[in-house]
Amino acid sequence: MFARMLKLRLLNAVAPAYFFAATAVTFILHFCFFLPTIFPSSGESPIGSTLLHTVIFLFLMFNALGNYTMTIKYPAESANDPVVIPVCSPDCSDRIDAHYLLNGRHFCKLCKKVIFKRDHHCFFTGNCIGNRNMRYFIMFCIYTSCVCLYSLVLGVAFLTVEYSISFENPLTFLTLLPISTGYFFTGGVSGLQLFLVIMLYVWLGIGLVCAGFCCQQVLLVARGQTWCQLQRGALVKTRSPWRSNLRGVFGDRWGLGLLLPVRTVETDSDDHTPHSIIQRPHVH
Ligand SMILES: [Zn+2]
Repeated sequence: MFARMLKLRLLNAVAPAYFFAATAVTFILHFCFFLPTIFPSSGESPIGSTLLHTVIFLFLMFNALGNYTMTIKYPAESANDPVVIPVCSPDCSDRIDAHYLLNGRHFCKLCKKVIFKRDHHCFFTGNCIGNRNMRYFIMFCIYTSCVCLYSLVLGVAFLTVEYSISFENPLTFLTLLPISTGYFFTGGVSGLQLFLVIMLYVWLGIGLVCAGFCCQQVLLVARGQTWCQLQRGALVKTRSPWRSNLRGVFGDRWGLGLLLPVRTVETDSDDHTPHSIIQRPHVH
């Protein structure tokens, strides 16, 4: 148990560092390699193309980083009972990362906080995802997916222009990494080219995982369920319509939230579960 907890704590420290490193690399590749090569200022490409791609990239990146910040700024901790001693529910199975409490909340061992409507602990933000930051987390996933897939397209264009690699054959993408790695060790491919090829796979992987994860979260929100409940096999007793479930998370001004990382719903008042819990020592 101790070793597994240590692994989770390590992951909690490494994942944000990985996220910021990948973001910095993406920024550098875009502005130092992709845009100057694909749209050279001295060539026939109009300056408008460079400007358009810069605006699109900065917009996607701004929303990804903005929602990342909002996920951390508005944590999902239970607001009304900060002094209540966490009491385990009888059916708390003492999971590795969290305790299930009597009042329907969770105590996250990594955050060391009582969480209301806990969904899961996100290692990239180092925070629990729950009632207050679910919307930001979903938007973070959407825009991260967009940034990665957009970078993938520009990366492919850069390799085509700079190294004359043709992607007309769909199988090229499958054979690109093994062939590039082989040529790298025989001196036929530069370190930068191999790094770019690896980044294409990283962007594709993160882009698809984020898109899939986002779809799963939206479906769970529409059902009014959390990932924690799903794992415990708990069914939601009061099934409200999917529209009100989505509105509860995304707010009435959800359209604005799709375009900008701003608050569209006041969730502080959501924490209205009555405080009828018995104070007794922690079970586990
Ligand atoms: Zn947590």
